Amino acid sequence: MAKRDFYEVLGVERGASEAELKKAYRRLAMKYHPDRNPDDESAIEKFKEANEAYEVLTDAQKRAAYDQYGHAGVDPNMGGGAGGAGFGGGNFSDIFGDVFGDIFGGGGGGRGGRSSVQRGSDLRYTLELDLEEAVRGTTVTIRVPTLAECGTCDGSGAKKGTTPVTCTTCGGHGQVRMQQGFFSVQQTCPRCHGTGKMITDPCNTCHGHGRVEEQKTLSVKVPAGVDTGDRIRLAGEGEAGVHGGPAGDLYVVVSVREHKIFQRDGKNLFCEVPISFADAALGGELEVPTLDGRVKLKIPDGAQTGKLFRLRGKGVTPVRGGSAGDLLCKVVVETPVNLTKRQRELIQELRETLQEEGSNQSPRAESWFDGVKNFFEDMKF
Ligand SMILES: [Zn+2]
Ligand SMILES: [Zn+2]
Repeated sequence: MAKRDFYEVLGVERGASEAELKKAYRRLAMKYHPDRNPDDESAIEKFKEANEAYEVLTDAQKRAAYDQYGHAGVDPNMGGGAGGAGFGGGNFSDIFGDVFGDIFGGGGGGRGGRSSVQRGSDLRYTLELDLEEAVRGTTVTIRVPTLAECGTCDGSGAKKGTTPVTCTTCGGHGQVRMQQGFFSVQQTCPRCHGTGKMITDPCNTCHGHGRVEEQKTLSVKVPAGVDTGDRIRLAGEGEAGVHGGPAGDLYVVVSVREHKIFQRDGKNLFCEVPISFADAALGGELEVPTLDGRVKLKIPDGAQTGKLFRLRGKGVTPVRGGSAGDLLCKVVVETPVNLTKRQRELIQELRETLQEEGSNQSPRAESWFDGVKNFFEDMKF
């Protein structure tokens, strides 16, 4: 079969510019693309023919050879010439990618154009826990608003018994080209929003979206030792995918509520323990709270405000393993209020004895007064 003239194939003048060639080729390739003409042998032949013509005429060297010698100048079987031009081999996808990559989303131009399958979004859920729950672990039931696949249409968006049809605006590619002055701009198809499909008869339940809003009830197992900011991933419990895509994940983010007694820092717990003036002075045994219940804490005599007592292993066992932390109890000496007359007398008596000369019974006050004295002496100079 004699080959047609390449200029004739593309329908351009002999002196056509590269832009004209590209435009002509694009029109033909769109028309005869195998994706749009399945099982049409003549269309495929025309597509190959246009492809070969375009490849030769856009290569300056090949075009010169073709202009001078005709097909013999570029046919590899004829010897000489400027090298092969043909449908086979890697050149095809190179050209195709060059001209159509932006439309078909890649060199090969997959069937149906751009894939409309999308993974569902990940979701984030903030889970508030009490300190005790975070430390010991718990199982909670949460309700999460999410987009789930529509059960009526199985996610297709089309009414039962109907199927979505190829979008007539973009021909199923999901993208359209708009002419804006000299420029041709590619845009997501306004009709099908990039899916390439039109739903003529939308599902009544999801109104064609394929997904419906749903409150999902989930049971979340919270391991012992979690802290604010820790995330628990529930694979596949995020939003449903689009058009059969996989579902996203759900991230449950822990937020531990403030506790009335304990503050947490990593694996250690802190608390303040008020002690009476008498207990501080004489020493004694106190009951202090821990997350496991009360324990007795021995206070030596002469305890000062700010003194830390460490209860080993009464902190938190970290969720990522390791030994339990400690509970640190800070003693705060409390000044008695609403004194009776008798108590006033006793404390007054105590004050007098404490003020006696030569006593060393207030170590902090003494060093403080020494400091003040030195301060004023230094100022004299
Ligand atoms: Zn539906
Ligand atoms: Zn469309």
